[in-house]
Amino acid sequence: MTLLRKIIKRSVGQRASDGAGVRLTRLIGSPEIDMLDPFLLLDCFESDNPDDYIGGFPEHPHRGFETVTYLLAGRMRHKDNAGHEGVIAPGGVQWMTAGRGIVHSEMPEQEDGLLKGFQLWVNLPAKDKMSAPAYQEFSAETIPVENQSDGVIVRVISGQTDEGTVGAVKNTWTHPLYLDISLKAGSSFHQAIPPSHNGFIYVIEGAIEADDAQDMVKAKQLAVLGDGDHVTLRAGTEDSRLLLIAGQRLNEDVARGGPFVMNTRAEVMQAFQDYQNGKF
Ligand code: MN
Repeated sequence: MTLLRKIIKRSVGQRASDGAGVRLTRLIGSPEIDMLDPFLLLDCFESDNPDDYIGGFPEHPHRGFETVTYLLAGRMRHKDNAGHEGVIAPGGVQWMTAGRGIVHSEMPEQEDGLLKGFQLWVNLPAKDKMSAPAYQEFSAETIPVENQSDGVIVRVISGQTDEGTVGAVKNTWTHPLYLDISLKAGSSFHQAIPPSHNGFIYVIEGAIEADDAQDMVKAKQLAVLGDGDHVTLRAGTEDSRLLLIAGQRLNEDVARGGPFVMNTRAEVMQAFQDYQNGKF
């Protein structure tokens, strides 16, 4: 371990609406942070007002990347055109590889109460953008949990902690690290992150010190980590919770067209055409 990753950028995101009127905060894929290779988008939704989420995300396509839905509260039902259907419950994750294309809906499975969670878009390398669609789905009970000695609890969705706990989701395209970390006030957490990766934290509750005690990252803030090979995160004077997410840079051209993310404009046009012609 030689180089500590420091915070190079912060954002509280931008209020946005997507799907059929779902109100959310866009943290990546926004004017402030266009993308953080391989991450194309990060949305956070959190509301106990059904008007903010009840419309859900009716049928829509994806091609060329992965969508990762992680729920903290509430339930979402997803259904695709290949007959795959299921419900994501609190603490559960769905890591969907859209590959060459799926058409699906993501709808709240509730009419009231709190809905809270995240959707992350992870790019695929050019050579695998047209791979077969696939799912990795894990309920809260099946996601490995690491209890460290000083009141640190880590839910390991993907990647491997320094103490050796291996995450539920396997991914050899971008070797992602996706950790949900709870810290008692004043406790700290160390994690190696390969220099090949971009990474960020998002603070869910409390406040986190990454490299500067004078400038904590507060709840609902995203902080981009700079170059390095490890990170040290410390909770302030209150119990805190955050996501630590990192992934290997692809360093390829990115052409976006709504729900399609390819390498060239022509490939995006082809995706629209294929979708319109019912080839998904
Ligand atoms: Mn979708």
